[in-house]
Amino acid sequence: REKAEKFTFQTEVNRMMKLIINSLYRNKEIFLRELISNASDAIDKIRLLALTDRKELESNPELHIRIKADKENKALHIMDSGIGMTHQDLINNLGTIAKSGTADFLAKMQDPSKSEGGDLNDMIGQFGVGFYSAFLVADRVVVTTKHNDDKQYIWESDANSFTITEDPRGDTLKRGSIISLYLKEEAQDFLEEETVRELIRKYSQFINFPILMWSSKTVDEEVPVEEEAVAEPAKTEDDVEDADEEAKVEEAADDDKPKTKKVSKTIWDWLLINDSKPIWTRKPADVTTEEYNNFYKSLTKDSSEPLTQTHFIAEGEVTFKSLLYVPKVQPSESFNRYGTKSDNIKLYVRRVFITDEFNDMMPNFLSFIRGVVDSDDLPLNVSRETLQQHKLIKVIKKKLVRKVLDMLKKLDKESYEQFWKEFSTNIKLGVMEDPSNRSRLAKLLRFQTSNGKGVTSLAEYVERMKSKQEHIYYIAGANRGEVEKSPFVERLLSKGYEVLFLVEAVDEYCISALPEFDGKKFQNVAKEGFKLNESEKSKKNFESLKSAFEPLVKWLNDVALKDQISKAQVSERLSNSPCALVAGVFGWTGNMERLAMSNAH
Ligand code: ADP
Ligand code: MG
Repeated sequence: REKAEKFTFQTEVNRMMKLIINSLYRNKEIFLRELISNASDAIDKIRLLALTDRKELESNPELHIRIKADKENKALHIMDSGIGMTHQDLINNLGTIAKSGTADFLAKMQDPSKSEGGDLNDMIGQFGVGFYSAFLVADRVVVTTKHNDDKQYIWESDANSFTITEDPRGDTLKRGSIISLYLKEEAQDFLEEETVRELIRKYSQFINFPILMWSSKTVDEEVPVEEEAVAEPAKTEDDVEDADEEAKVEEAADDDKPKTKKVSKTIWDWLLINDSKPIWTRKPADVTTEEYNNFYKSLTKDSSEPLTQTHFIAEGEVTFKSLLYVPKVQPSESFNRYGTKSDNIKLYVRRVFITDEFNDMMPNFLSFIRGVVDSDDLPLNVSRETLQQHKLIKVIKKKLVRKVLDMLKKLDKESYEQFWKEFSTNIKLGVMEDPSNRSRLAKLLRFQTSNGKGVTSLAEYVERMKSKQEHIYYIAGANRGEVEKSPFVERLLSKGYEVLFLVEAVDEYCISALPEFDGKKFQNVAKEGFKLNESEKSKKNFESLKSAFEPLVKWLNDVALKDQISKAQVSERLSNSPCALVAGVFGWTGNMERLAMSNAH
């Protein structure tokens, strides 16, 4: 008998297991989603390997996932012809957790006061406890696995510790894994064909490999009477004679009285459950909103629907298909299952999954976009690293950004407001970081304004500008109350000009990056050199004020505030306040200083 090696789980895994086993987590059925997703990942991996070494597939060229319930042994088996696991893989992958954010997740689960609201139940589902979710429904899990580079092994665990044994039956699997769940008493429903089939339909309809289920079918069969007669224990001589006669008649073809009988028979077979044609390869006109929404949910594990999506085929320099989504809310860092630094775009080449770890399929400011890209023009037989350098990737990226901006532009007012509430900072950072799309992004900006309580677009502001007004006026500050009362604004408001209120930290930097909008330059009303286009009469009036106050200005400049300010001058920007501190054209405004100081602390 083969010797079983015994192992203990990593501390984090132990904590995770306790959480899974003791939690009152209602949604136990997600275990199947997790295990099918692992099976699909494993097939993706062998297919990717085979791109550079065709021999890898020879051990088993068929790529599929099979599911079989064994009522007698109260076991559910999930089988795949994926990459399998070596002895070392089993220790690394099924004994530790490598996923980023795990520690954070565990801390939040154990101390609900730390969570940002939200249902703890949802958190398990969103975080994706992965393989360990098997213990939601099973008290014993057995993994039989065969990797091309190693022998076949059996991993087994009761959630407390695990053992690994070389399979005494030898290498019975050609390649791949079987995850066998010995179901808990209260989870026996997962042995029912109907239950399992519905779950696959619900969670795994977008898996890109065939999912086959061991299914029974009752069929009515016309059985010739004599065959049945043979099976009958008590046979009379008459029966036998009849049968002989029948056989002769049948040979003579069309008999008006065929002696057959209907019998119900149960047939077992592998039945295909999903449609593995990827949704993005279908014609957009043929895909329903519900299908788009469901695909989004399966892609992201988000339980809400997306805000919007765009599905397109790009042609020209490079041909590719893509389906991109905007989530309803900003994904929170710790639940971003793809880790912190990568983006959320899955790259396929000719339907073969390549990676979701290109860190820059999307620029940083659009990292919240989720979706897939599938190109026929990229080479399949190169490493991911080489592919990342490929010149067409740049072209694809550029088109993706354009398409995202188009999609945002097309949102109706209400949806755009919802978008702006979550992602305004991303768009502002985009203005600063992406010069080639700056004017497109500028159209998406919204700011608070003296014109009303809500926000305005720059286009709307320009439309309301007074006939001789040359600049777009703005003031930046900590909040609306502060800028509204600012002496810099008072004269403009009293003359009926509109002023944008930049009250978010990033606003002033964003506007500084924008040279103009619709031919209109921006004017920070808190900066030097700001002039109103006044009538001849008020110009004269201003000139006479200037000469009247010349001695005071000179005294302020040369004596009183010599070391405190760079210069004093008579200004036309105030109406009630006697004086104001103004930043130089190239100097920092008070608001920027405030931000810089608070960043430094
Ligand atoms: P994740 O899928 O997010 O990596 P899981 O907990 O679901 O986390 O799985 C942990 C690891 O176990 C996987 O990354 C993979 O390496 C390995 N694994 C799980 N199931 C399989 C399988 N069916 N075939 C091959 N490897 C698997
Ligand atoms: Mg997984």
